[in-house]
Formats: sequence, structure tokens, C-alpha cells
Amino acid sequence: MKNNTKKPFAVVLGCMILVALALVLSSSTLANAQPFDDHTDFETYQNEILGVMISYPKRSHIVSEQDYFNDTYGFVVRDKNQEASGFKEPIFSIEWVIEALPNDIEKLVEKAVAPYPTILIKVSPVNINGYDGYILSPMPGLSPNTLLLISANNRVYQIRYYGENSDDSLKQLVEKIVFIIPNRQLNELNIPHADDVLYVPPPDEIIKQLEGSSTRDNDSILPNNPGSLVTPPAYLLSLQPGCTSDPGYVQTQWNKFARGGSGISFAGSYFWGQGGHIRCNSTDYYNNYYALDHALNEWDAVYPHRGGTVIYAGWAGGGWRTLGRMVVIDYGNNRWGVMAHLRSLSTSAVVGNYVNSGTHIGFAGGSGDYTDNYWGIHLHQSLHLNAKLAIVTGGQYPGGGIHDGQSARPNAIYHLGGVYYPDNMYSGMPMSFAIDVPLPVHNEPANH
Ligand SMILES: [Zn+2]
Repeated sequence: MKNNTKKPFAVVLGCMILVALALVLSSSTLANAQPFDDHTDFETYQNEILGVMISYPKRSHIVSEQDYFNDTYGFVVRDKNQEASGFKEPIFSIEWVIEALPNDIEKLVEKAVAPYPTILIKVSPVNINGYDGYILSPMPGLSPNTLLLISANNRVYQIRYYGENSDDSLKQLVEKIVFIIPNRQLNELNIPHADDVLYVPPPDEIIKQLEGSSTRDNDSILPNNPGSLVTPPAYLLSLQPGCTSDPGYVQTQWNKFARGGSGISFAGSYFWGQGGHIRCNSTDYYNNYYALDHALNEWDAVYPHRGGTVIYAGWAGGGWRTLGRMVVIDYGNNRWGVMAHLRSLSTSAVVGNYVNSGTHIGFAGGSGDYTDNYWGIHLHQSLHLNAKLAIVTGGQYPGGGIHDGQSARPNAIYHLGGVYYPDNMYSGMPMSFAIDVPLPVHNEPANH
């Protein structure tokens, strides 16, 4: 499936290009990475299907060439040091827009901007090393990013660079890319299409579990000693400025079979404000300060944290691509919930379908960037007030993303036989599965 062969340069011309690439790389090339100096080791990567050759510092890492095909083909580059700490946002990605010809570039620019009518995206024509294109900035997404659409060798490429004010970094990066004549065919990789692996059936034992419990059962009990406890840090006790406190409850989102039958997961490893959970009220980006990650096993059943109508079910695209398979549910009153990194969606997760907190909507996974196992297996969930959803269907920019509004912290998280209140929650806290019963009316945390 992957084309990871790194070919040494066999020809003199290739060697000359390599030396030239190494010489022109500067410390600002990879703005998100740590600075590098004259002693930095470089590695060269050449992809004969993509038609791209690039020299990159050894501490960064070419990680995927699209395990699932999505009308584009390419790879992302991540920083090894960041990966070691669990953070897997790309530094940049390079993709060939397969159906497009150079004459289509203006149309592609319009298509890329159209889903975000409320965001001012600057479109600047560029010529880099003789290649014509457009830089679009800032592009909405999980985090700030800049998009370049450029034509080379009668193809169109899209290059996305992640980071604040990344226009210059992007230009410098592209100056180091050599577009080569492709001499291998994409179809020899037999890459499955991303849309064909959205609703993958689970293993048989998971199907049996689900048949035995159409809603979440309430006959399990919490273990006496669910894990080691940590004192909550003081900063978590007040609401983050710009975020909002939701007056209602949500429910935990797994069942008694989760994590090998314990029914227990944890608040984190990424807790509120940790890892990529950073924004409260950005217009352009995903506001998920009060998102929680729950470690689960692959194929553990996932449920909504409130009842509502499915408004998005599919791969997260564009600048949100690392969210993987994603379901967005409209809970009413301008509140939405997001569940991401799923291994597969359940057939109930289709746009327009009403689901409640006992409706199975999908399976836990680690998907991101049109790939499974991009992350460790966990459920990423977030609650939003007044957010906007960009949905682009078909063409070169399929996928959806959520931006604007405010990250919402629920006033309580309901679970088997009890309620977790935000002031008592902390990173790593054990949390049990939920039961699907009417929730009591309760708008203030009990300890206030
Ligand atoms: Zn997360």
C-alpha cells in the first residue's frame, strides 16, 4: 500500500540537485520544527508516482502516502520530536490533485474558498521556480494553515503548510521541491477509496455484543479501584476566557464492553486545554479547548453524548484532515457535538438521522489524514456553541470541518449511577460508561 522506498541518486544530475537542495535549506524552512544548523542531516525522498523529489531534515519524517485514496495522492511530513510526545499534526502535506489540469487552477481556488463565506481568505498569485499558482491564506481548519495550488508537469499540486503566518515558510519549502516527470502509475498501488471504508463492518464478536445490547445496558457496576487518582490542578477550576459553559449535561460515550469489558475509560490523555485542545472562540479554526480524548480499544462502540440530528458523517477534510472519520451532531439550541478518529461509522450515522445517547454511531479508532492508526486508539469529542460547518462534497476538496462559535464545557457529564462535575475533573480521571435514562434537571454543579 505504501511507497516508502527511498532511492539513492544514481545519476550525476540527481547528486547535483541534492547538493543544491541541502545548501539552500535554511533554518526557517520548517517553521514548526526546532531550528537546525549546518550540521543538520538531510534525507532525500523521491516519489515517482507523485512526481516530487524533496530534501528534508532527518528529524522530520514522511509518514503517510494516503492509505485511503481521496481524489488526491500525496504524503505528509511530521516532526519526529513532536511525534515522540504524541503530537501528530503535520508540518506540511503535498498532494497531486488527480483529476485537475493546470487550466482548472482558478476553478480550484474558487472551490477552496467557497465553503467559508464568513472568513476573509487572501488569494495571491505566485510564481515559484517558474511554476504558477495561488497561495490561499489563512485557510480554516484545526489550526492555522496556508494552501498553495500550483501547476507543474501538466499536473496540479496542493501543498498545505501548517503554522501561523506560514506564507513565507511555504514559499521556501516549494523552492526546495523538484517536480520530476512521474514514471510510475498510481493504480499499481490499488489504494482503496476513502469513501469505501467509511462504514466498515466490525469483527464478528463486536457485532454479537451490539446485537445483545441495542442501547447501552445499565447492569454493570463500577470497580472499587478504577485507577490512581490525581489532584486536579487549580487552573482547571475556572472557565477558560472566551469559552462557554453549557448549562446542560452530556453523557459518557461508550458501553460496558469498552476497554476489554471494564466499561472504564479516562479523561485524557489529552484533557481540556492539553495537546491540540487549545482554542475557545476563533473564527477560522476548530474551537476545542474543552474537547476530551478517551482512550478506548479499537472497535469499542461509540455513542453521541446527547440526542440530536446528524449533520456530518464522513472523513474530516482540508485543514481538519487529522480528525479522521468524524460525526457531527446538532443537539439543538445551537449546540453541536463532534466525535472523531473513528475506526468506522455505524449505519445510523448518516446526515439527517436522529440519534440519541443510546444510539450506536460508530467505533473507536485512531483515524486521521485518510489513514487508520494515524493516532493511538481514542475517542476525541467536543461540544460547541454557535459553530459553523464547512461541507464540501465531490470534486477535489471533499470532507467537512467545523469552525467559529465557542468551545463549550458541559456543566456535568452523566454516567452509570452518577455525575461528573467539571470542578472535580482532572486529566487522567477514570470515567465509566453511561446509561440511557432521562436526565435529571440540574443546571448547577452540586458542589457550588
Ligand atoms: Zn483530542
